[in-house]
Amino acid sequence: MAGVARKPRVAVWKFSSCDGCQLTLLDCEDELLAVAGAVDLAYFPEATRGDIKGRYDLSLVEGSITTPHDVERVKDVRRRSKFLITIGACATSGGIQALRNFADVKEYTSIVYARPDFIETLATSTGIADHVPVDFELRGCPISKRQLVETIAAFLAGRKPVTPPHSVCVECKLKGNVCVMVAHGTPCLGPVTHAGCGALCPSYDRGCYGCFGPMETPNTASLSKELRVLGMDERALHRVWRTFNANAAPFREEGQRHGR
Ligand code: SF4
Ligand code: SF4
Repeated sequence: MAGVARKPRVAVWKFSSCDGCQLTLLDCEDELLAVAGAVDLAYFPEATRGDIKGRYDLSLVEGSITTPHDVERVKDVRRRSKFLITIGACATSGGIQALRNFADVKEYTSIVYARPDFIETLATSTGIADHVPVDFELRGCPISKRQLVETIAAFLAGRKPVTPPHSVCVECKLKGNVCVMVAHGTPCLGPVTHAGCGALCPSYDRGCYGCFGPMETPNTASLSKELRVLGMDERALHRVWRTFNANAAPFREEGQRHGR
C-alpha cells in the first residue's frame, strides 16, 4: 500500500507583539478549518496545546526582537524551520515598540518599572530579518486575512504568494475611491505605503497612516513636501513617519530628516 503523505507541520511563534496578527489567523474561521485540514498545526499557543519539539515545514513568526533571549530563541526557530514567514509590522520592521530605537531605553525602563534592575532588554526593537534569514514577509498592523490565506495556500502549492508590492494608491484606484488627499486635502501616506489592506482607510474617507510599511522604492521626500503644502509643520512631519513602521529604513530616514 502506498504511504499516506505527511501533512506539513506548521508552527506559529510569538516574540514582542500584541498578538493581533495571530488573532488574524484565528479570525480566518472557515479558511482556518480548511487550513487545519491541510496542515498539522503543531505549535500555536493561541489555539492549541501543541508540542514545541521537533522541526517544522513552515513557521509563521509574529513580533520583534527586544531581549537577548529573543535573539537566541529566533535562531532556534530558524534552525527548526524549513520556511520562515514573518507576519506583521512588529516582525518585519520592529513595530511600534521600535520607537525605543530613537530614545534612551534606560530612561524608559526607569519611568515604567518599579524595579528597572529586574528588566533585561535590548536598546532596540528590530525585525526578524535583522537576525536570521527570512523566506517571506507579510506586512500590516495587523496583517490582512486575505494575504495570510493566500500565503499559506501558496506555501501548500509550492508557489510564490501573490502579494503585489505597489502602493495603497493603486488599491484606491482599483476600488474607484476618490483620492482623499487631492479631493479633501487629507494627509495620506497611501502613495508610499505597501498595498495589502484594500485601501481600507481611504475607503472610509480618512488618510492612510502607513500601517503596511513602505512599498518598493517609495518617494517619501516628495510626499513630505506635499504634506507640508497641506499644512503639516516639521513636528507633525516627524510624527507621521514615526508610527508602526518607524524602523523600516525609508520611513526611519524620512523621520530623521524632520527631527530626532
Ligand atoms: S504587527 Fe500590529 S497587530 Fe501584529 S502583533 Fe504587531 S502590534 Fe499587533
Ligand atoms: S489604508 Fe494605510 S493605515 Fe489604513 S489599513 Fe491600509 S495601510 Fe493601514
